[in-house]
Amino acid sequence: MFDARLINDPFDDPGVFVELKYRREALLFDLGDLRALSPRNLLKVRQIFVSHTHMDHFIGFDHLVRVCLGRDQTIRLFGPGGFLRHVENRLGSYTWNLVENYENDFNLVVTEVVGEETRTACFACRRAFRREGEQEGKISGGILCDHPFYRVKTEILDHRVPCLAFALEEKFRVNIRKDVLQSMGIPPGPWLMDLKEKIARNAPPETDIRAFWRDEEDGRVHERYFPLGELREKLVLITRGMKIAYIADAVCSPDNETRMLAIAEEADLLFVEAPFLHGDESRAAKKYHLTARQAGSLARKAGVKRMTLFHFSPKYQGQGDLLQSEADRAFAGES
Ligand SMILES: [Zn+2]
Repeated sequence: MFDARLINDPFDDPGVFVELKYRREALLFDLGDLRALSPRNLLKVRQIFVSHTHMDHFIGFDHLVRVCLGRDQTIRLFGPGGFLRHVENRLGSYTWNLVENYENDFNLVVTEVVGEETRTACFACRRAFRREGEQEGKISGGILCDHPFYRVKTEILDHRVPCLAFALEEKFRVNIRKDVLQSMGIPPGPWLMDLKEKIARNAPPETDIRAFWRDEEDGRVHERYFPLGELREKLVLITRGMKIAYIADAVCSPDNETRMLAIAEEADLLFVEAPFLHGDESRAAKKYHLTARQAGSLARKAGVKRMTLFHFSPKYQGQGDLLQSEADRAFAGES
């Protein structure tokens, strides 16, 4: 289950924070100004997907490194062609002469994507963030990461520079039947997470699951063991997982439209840029951006359930409602 939100106001820098509920883990799409995100939330981030490195999408990188410095943490970053050089240059602009004494190691594992080819390198804090261990790889079907619970796919859009659009797909949802749980006389708790994880990892049905809870009156811990297969049969309902798509900067060309529709198809929630009103269509095209109407009609064609707009041009400061209503009309099929 994902909890996704824009980090900033739609007139400010782009960025979406996605919390993987119950896992104390989070993902980020784009690294604009991150100061609105608490350090506590920032420290949950394990994977970051950067559309491109225009300043408004990447300026938060320094803030991220500063907050995570000295922590025992590895963060994976993905970006378009040239991304390794950009990360290397940002890290290379600081002095790192005392970091070898840090007790904890903070590592960045960075991948750039060009077509189906990838290039990955590591930057370890205790080794002064030197670019190391470079490896080449390939992705298929646009899949950047494949986790037991979710996958992240990309499509490369044209923004005069390559710009990655992303889809985060929960593979399936494991729902607990609360009525059955109640009839078993066992309260919900963190053990359900272990159950869900084992189901996601396809553990054998005879695997023991330990249900445990603390007695509210005497404070004693109770426990019962069940085979995974039994719980899966009577306690669990598996349904379709959630899909979130993120489309940042792109011109509305036929090629881009095909790719944007592929990434947004039937998303539960689409984050899509809408910098200009359609009256400024030629200005939008010149700057390789979408208009609000194009964003709304894209969401409609892709069959998404909800859309959230961002990246409003400062030109419309105080008129965000105009951009919103233009996109809403197109989403509803009214224009
Ligand atoms: Zn931008």
